Amino acid sequence: MLNVENTIQTVESEYDELVPSRYAVRIGEIDVLVVSDGVLSLPTATMATNADPADRATWLDEMFLPPDAFGWPLNVLVARSGDQNILIDAGLGVEYPDFPRAGQLPLRLAAAGIDLGSITDIVITHMHMDHVGGLLVDGVKERLRPDLRIHVAAAEVKFWASPDFSHTSMPSPVPNVLRSAARRFLDEYRSQLRVFDQEYEVAPGVVVCRTGGHTPGHSVVRVESGGDRLTFAGDAVFPVGFDHPDWHNGFEHDPEEAVRVRVSLLQELAATGGLLVATHLPFPSVGRVAVDGAAFRWVPVFWEY
Ligand SMILES: [Zn+2]
Repeated sequence: MLNVENTIQTVESEYDELVPSRYAVRIGEIDVLVVSDGVLSLPTATMATNADPADRATWLDEMFLPPDAFGWPLNVLVARSGDQNILIDAGLGVEYPDFPRAGQLPLRLAAAGIDLGSITDIVITHMHMDHVGGLLVDGVKERLRPDLRIHVAAAEVKFWASPDFSHTSMPSPVPNVLRSAARRFLDEYRSQLRVFDQEYEVAPGVVVCRTGGHTPGHSVVRVESGGDRLTFAGDAVFPVGFDHPDWHNGFEHDPEEAVRVRVSLLQELAATGGLLVATHLPFPSVGRVAVDGAAFRWVPVFWEY
């Protein structure tokens, strides 16, 4: 007689992908899920605007990365604390034909069994289009709860009323697209915004803290429970930021302040051993930070199954 429990069964999945797009971590009593929104391809020059091109080329070569275009991973977080479901950032959305591999969030949340209507809070680390665009996708707003709270730093809302891009170095069409996405986000969701000055406890153990640097209201999210801690760093850290924390990213509104924010965050994480997740680190982007001479080293977690 056939023993069913020992038989490998073929599972027909409605959602068939070559690689997984979500990774779960438990931080004490808080469930955290990293969900990939996809990948965003940008010129490599954007990730190191103040570096000698030869040094940048060397770094890319040593990382086995192509010289001209770099596929930025795009990660979003979902945290469940008590009876609150908190979405942290929302990915790019689907209206940009130049970025066909991003904007997967609504589909991947559904695949993870997370209904948009179950989200009680959204935290926006900053209002760049790859962080708010997912909320502008047709049909998304209608599925969100009418009493949804969206938390964003007051300085961020103020900045986008009249953004100053004079210290940024972005590919040419990007500033206008950023401006338009931020304006539409504010128009659509203004009545649901809950602004804070420096920090705000969104739910027990989930605190959003303004850092500035990348944008004036850029914020990170601290998750802490039962002695475990995880920081979602938004755009304070990019893949190149461990070896070269002083390299400027072209999207940084105040690149020198962004370096200070990055270095102090990496130093803190190296000292505490807390987990780091960041928007543009390789999925699932869950790891720790070690000090490596004058720079840092990224130490990915061993996946747990
Ligand atoms: Zn970003």
